[in-house]
Amino acid sequence: MRLTVQRGGPGPLLRLPSERPLWGVAQAILDAEPSFQSCTVVKTKNRTRVLSWRKQPGALELRVSKTVLGHPDDIAAVVLRDDQDAWARLRALHMGQREEVKPVLNAPLGQTHDLRPLCTAAMRFVPEVSTPPPLRWGDWPSTLPRRRIQLGACDGVGIRVHPVLDHASVPDFVLEVLLHHELLHLAIPPKVVGGRRVIHSRVFRHRERAHPAYAQSQAWERAHISNLLKRIRAKG
Ligand SMILES: [Zn+2]
Repeated sequence: MRLTVQRGGPGPLLRLPSERPLWGVAQAILDAEPSFQSCTVVKTKNRTRVLSWRKQPGALELRVSKTVLGHPDDIAAVVLRDDQDAWARLRALHMGQREEVKPVLNAPLGQTHDLRPLCTAAMRFVPEVSTPPPLRWGDWPSTLPRRRIQLGACDGVGIRVHPVLDHASVPDFVLEVLLHHELLHLAIPPKVVGGRRVIHSRVFRHRERAHPAYAQSQAWERAHISNLLKRIRAKG
């Protein structure tokens, strides 16, 4: 579903009931940003992306997951002011609702490592995230990585960690730094710069490097990459 609202156009009572939440989001944007003459809102069922947008002169197009559509003020705060608290609230809401649709997925206990205390430790450096997101170990991939291994991911249902890291040879600090990176994604919204979506912004990288074990963890990954690849091939 998609709705374009012009500044000064008809109010919510003249809209279909199903259009009203979209109208609410568009109107919150138009109220907060006088330079836009129109705002288009597209409701998505996207499983992972909460919010994305494209600015054009005088107009904004927003794609909003239906899970957060009822929170126009937080959406406007993220899009117009880069408000990180609002972003954390929307992400938490999105993940919470996703959980209802698809339970399971909170499985932090691996064969060797428990992600919970490591996440709690990483959260000390990300005060914007006040409750731990669902954590889980991923499945072994069916195809082998070509250039780089994606060791962690923050998707619509929480944080997922590559199973190759659930091994006695992997020190806790590597997992903590990885979780720190994924937690920062919950705290720092992606930006659109020159039409491009920037996920690891300068601010993001700065915060990432501020973790006391960051350099040590990078060095560990470089030293062990061939071993990790070997174990991924062997799936164990
Ligand atoms: Zn990342």
